[in-house]
Parts: sequence; C-alpha cells; structure tokens
Amino acid sequence: MAKKYQNFINGEWRDSSSHESFENRNPADWDNDLIGTFPSSNVDDVDDAVIAARAAFKKWRLIPAPRRGDVLKVVGDKMLKHKDEIAFEMTREMGKVIAETKGDVQEGIDTAYYAASEGRRLFGFNAPSEMPNKMNLSFRVPIGVGGFITPWNFPMAIPTWKLFPALVCGNTCVFKPAELTPKTATTLVKIIDEAMKEVLGKDYIPGVLNLVHGSGAIVGEAMTSHPEIDFISFTGSSEVGKRINTVAGGDLKRVSLELGGKNAQIVMDDADMELALDAVLWGAFGTTGQRCTATSRLILHKKIHDKFIDKLIKRVDKLKLGYGNNEGVDIGPCVSETQRENVNKYVNIGIEEDKATLVYGGDYAVKGDLSKGWFYKPTIFTNVTQYMRIAQEEIFGPVLSVLQCKDLDDAIAILNGTQYGLSSSIFTKNVNNAFKAVRDIEAGITYVNGATIGAEAHMPFGGVKATGNGHREGGWTVYDFYTEWKAVYIDYSGKLQRAQIDNY
Ligand code: NAD
Repeated sequence: MAKKYQNFINGEWRDSSSHESFENRNPADWDNDLIGTFPSSNVDDVDDAVIAARAAFKKWRLIPAPRRGDVLKVVGDKMLKHKDEIAFEMTREMGKVIAETKGDVQEGIDTAYYAASEGRRLFGFNAPSEMPNKMNLSFRVPIGVGGFITPWNFPMAIPTWKLFPALVCGNTCVFKPAELTPKTATTLVKIIDEAMKEVLGKDYIPGVLNLVHGSGAIVGEAMTSHPEIDFISFTGSSEVGKRINTVAGGDLKRVSLELGGKNAQIVMDDADMELALDAVLWGAFGTTGQRCTATSRLILHKKIHDKFIDKLIKRVDKLKLGYGNNEGVDIGPCVSETQRENVNKYVNIGIEEDKATLVYGGDYAVKGDLSKGWFYKPTIFTNVTQYMRIAQEEIFGPVLSVLQCKDLDDAIAILNGTQYGLSSSIFTKNVNNAFKAVRDIEAGITYVNGATIGAEAHMPFGGVKATGNGHREGGWTVYDFYTEWKAVYIDYSGKLQRAQIDNY
C-alpha cells in the first residue's frame, strides 16, 4: 500500500478537501516503484492556506529578524544531518544521480546558513538630510504573503532559494511544488516546521509556511490570482512564466520569474581541450540535461572542431545510464514519459532539419533494466546552424547541438543569438578574449574555463532577456525581492521644515 502524504496548512498535516490524489513514481522504475500518493488540492485548500498565512504574517513580521535567522540555522543543521537520506529519496523521485542530489541538498544547506546570517544584516541605508536637525533612514520591511511555485529539476535547492530569504525577511508563505517532486518538498516543509517549533517554543506561529500539493492549472492558477497573495516567486518554463506574469501582474503583484535557457559553451582554438571536454560532458549530460543552466549548445572554433568531436564521442560512449542511486551511474532517466517524448520530438526535428548531422545517440535507451524507466541516450548533433530549432528552443534533455565559429566575435554573436540569456561559458587561454567575452555575452552568468553549470548559493542567480524579468535569486540580491523599502524622516528641529522650499 503506497504511503499517503498530505498538505500542510495552518500548522496541521491534512488531506485536500477534494479527497483526490496523484501518484509519485520512480522515473527509473516506473511500474514497480510507487513512492506515495499526494493530494490533488483545489481552490478551497489554497484559500485555507492563504488565510492561515495572512493571519500568521501579523505575528511573524514582529519576530526579530535574528531570531527568524536562528530558525534557518537549525533548518540547515537538520538538512546536513539528513543529507544522505534526503538525496537518496530525491534520486528515487526525480532520477538524477546521487552525487547530484547530494549537491542539490548541499545548496539548500548553504542557502539556509546564508539566510540565517542575513537575519543579523538585512542592511538598510542612511543618508544625510538636506535640512538641519533632521535624520534620514531607510530600512527593509517584509511584504506579506508570498506564493512560491517551483519546478522539479532542483526539488530542494530551488524552494530553499525562495523560502529561506522570504522567511528571514518576515514574509509568510504558500508553497506549491512541482507535481513530479512532492516528496522532497514535504521533507523540506517538515524540517522547517520542526525547526520553527524548536527555536520559537511557546512563540511558535502556525501558518507561517503552508504547503499545497497539486497541479499548476488548479493550485498554481488559484495562487497567482489570489487577492490576498502579495507576491509570486516562480521558477519554471517561459510559457507558464508569461502566464503568471499576466495574471499576477494584472493585480499589481510583485513577480519574480526564473525561466528557460539555451545555454552555450564556447571553445576557442587555444583552449585546454581536455578541460573543455570535461566541462561539456558535465554541462550537457549532468542531470540528464534537465538543468536550466545545461549546456545545450557547444560552439567550437572551426580549427579544433573535428578533433574535439572525435574525442567527445569517445568520452560520451563511456557514460553509464541507470538508476541514479546505483554505484557508477553517470546519467539517470528523464523525469517523466512526457519529458522523454519531448526530447525525442526535438531529436526528430533535428534529424529533419536541413543539414544537422546526428553523430551520437538519438533514441530511447531500453537495454536491460533501462526499459523500466524513461531513459534516453545522450545525443549529439553536429553541423547545426544558428537558426535551426535545435539551436534556438529549450530541449531540457540530454541533447547537445554543436555549432562552428570562425573567431571570437562570431562565437559571441552565435551565443547571443537566442531569446534566452541564463548561463554561458568560454574556454580560452587568451586573457583578452576572456575579458571581451565576459563583457559582451548576454547572459546572467558567464563562466571562464568552467562549465555552464555550477552556481554558488551566495552569488546572484538568474538570466537576462526571455529567461526572466530582472530579479535574481541567491546571495544578497534576492533580499531586494523579498522586502519593501521604508524611508523614514525624523525631524528634531521643533519646527515644520519644508523640504525643497525652506532650504532653497
Ligand atoms: P513548468 O513551467 O511546467 O512548471 C513549473 C511549476 O509551475 C510547477 O509547479 C507547475 O505545476 C506550475 N504551473 C504550471 N502551470 C501553471 C499555471 N498556469 N499557473 C501557475 N503555476 C503553474 O516547468 P517544469 O517542467 O516544472 O520545469 C522545467 C522548466 O523550468 C524549464 O523551462 C527550465 O528551464 C525552467 N527552470 C528555470 C530555472 C531558472 O532558474 N531559470 C531553474 C530551473 C528550471
């Protein structure tokens, strides 16, 4: 009998009032490994969660920020203690290999400790007044109730990037995780609630954090349009992001969007080829290519193209597919059948497109135990040109499109020639070229001699152009999204001083 999981609303674990549920299964062993059932929540559940969060906000905003930070410190400690088991279950739930799910949990731990320390900073600014005997201050205040909608590819890290800074700033939360990764989300909420109880004791406030499982179409839409939700933090596809921006923006909600990417790695003719090979293998096929920062395009200098491709194919051929909790596995399955079908659709588009050449993979992987899951062979296309669909559209799977460039300007023009701008990388030993690339690449993140993946929790994370709407997660920058600025003027002159009038 599958374990039955619940929503968490107003400090209680409860069923959805719909009494309907959905299944969570292991993508590497779909028919045999049912992880659990989760509530298919409805609009009433969202309402209950928002009412609880609104009531909790009145009290949570008054808990001193350093104490709110203490909660996050304990959250980090608990995640560290249970890191291995959380990672194991995450691999079971979404498929990426255990080393990567451990990294996902570690990113959450780093974010917890950063947020904990931010409770003692949350710096404001002071500025001199233009009038005598008057003081000007500005400081951060919480916004209110936030709606948090997350994808499945970083089931722990992405929710922590959002919830931890939002909580330490004094906001309350309604969290809807992806339907494909509800278990990791449930674990996270349990840990946060335990830490709240331990740190706050008799001051514990139910409703600070609420978890509502279910679909984007019902739960996500209800959150986005809810009049009592003040802001939405969303990570996911550009298509859904645009919809959220329209609905939530129409109500003047603050909206943070982290969306799709079509990231590229440039390799110049003077690059360290072995290093660039390591990077592209990791960037293109790590997480089965299902990272927003995955290397989807490889832009090779034409002088090294043939040699590089030759070596790349030999290296890819050694990658082992399998269940990510098994020893020695490099690549797990696609997260779902739908995702695998989408990858295959793009491979067929690539095959049909003008002159693209399929040089590796291009098919389902079904040998032995692989037939139990949604495995797809790592796939490489060469002779791809800039405006082909496989060079423009996000595939979100283990598919690499290789393009050729003649020099640095050409490489950067190709890299910049998509609607997206999340991550990017250049391999070169020429320092002038490296700095030019850093200056001219249109992306929120640029690596020099590193893969397109590997962001650190204390640095700004996010993209330009169609990848987002200008906000950043991670580091100090995210605190601007989760707070309002309050400007305060304190006049101790004893008279009415009219700014801009009495002093000029
Ligand atoms: P998705 O957009 O399908 O779903 C993301 C979340 O939105 C899920 O929780 C889903 O239930 C919800 N949702 C769906 N429809 C909704 C609606 N109408 N209203 C409100 N919520 C709705 O994305 P996904 O398949 O889960 O994730 C893959 C995508 O996420 C890729 O495009 C990837 O690039 C992107 N992503 C971006 C970043 C980043 O930081 N830029 C990070 C990770 C993933």
